[in-house]
Amino acid sequence: GTTAYIHARVAPLTSRLILVLADDRTREQRVESIRRDFVANVSHELKTPVGALNLLAEAVGEAKDDPEAVVRFSSRMHLESERLTRLVQQIIDLSRLQNDILSDDATAIKVGELVGEACEHSATEAEHKKIDIVTSVEPDLQVHGDRSQLHAAVSNLVENAVTYSPEGSRVTVTALLDDGDVRLTVTDNGIGIPGEELDRIFERFYRVDPARARATGGTGLGLSIVKHVAASNGGTVEVWSEPGLGSSFTLVLPAFQHDIDEDSERNRA
Ligand code: ADP
Repeated sequence: GTTAYIHARVAPLTSRLILVLADDRTREQRVESIRRDFVANVSHELKTPVGALNLLAEAVGEAKDDPEAVVRFSSRMHLESERLTRLVQQIIDLSRLQNDILSDDATAIKVGELVGEACEHSATEAEHKKIDIVTSVEPDLQVHGDRSQLHAAVSNLVENAVTYSPEGSRVTVTALLDDGDVRLTVTDNGIGIPGEELDRIFERFYRVDPARARATGGTGLGLSIVKHVAASNGGTVEVWSEPGLGSSFTLVLPAFQHDIDEDSERNRA
């Protein structure tokens, strides 16, 4: 199972649980276990929105003399089809990640740009909930990795922070250099995650509260994508959370060190 490669570190003096995620298994082992349950989960998850769409289509047909009901049912159809589109996109992202475990599209990426794009991605939702997104990124930070994968990972973290936070609260995104690694942290003051759930939230399709997640349009795939992106770009994910206080997710990625010697070599040539 997935828990086999989750290393838990419990800080003894506090109730905070820190999870460091890393995938130790060989590529073969991973591909094998992915084959075993991914298809089963996917077909199960697709049945929910498709079933809802079927029922709503029927209801629209029966309510044709009630214009208000038609409007209500069709707006729910719209929401369900948006969720279905999102689900299919995330399934595609995830299966791509699972199939090329090592990214071969790595380039140097400015961390400030990744953070800016992720905040932009959630700007409408944040504005809607009057949530302030505050960023603080050390200048000139760069990571080495797959741009679109890292974009998806950071965007997912910011999106979750906004989704699981109350109106009028604050989300903070920081990035700093620490011993050759970039530590990119997204912190919220939202509902938090119970300690016993922390090792499960990175599993595919896992949601702490399925009913609430459905209401927020969640798919349960976001953090699974984050975990795979971290692993395939040589990094890890850490999480800290306390119910009622908030959560903090940190992507730890190898920093791209701009090589000054190489530059001066080139200038000399
Ligand atoms: P979802 O699409 O449901 O958000 P994720 O894989 O991104 O799926 O997250 C899995 C579950 O972890 C969520 O359903 C939610 O219960 C919990 N979760 C993720 N991020 C946060 C957060 N910032 N605050 C509280 N709960 C969170």
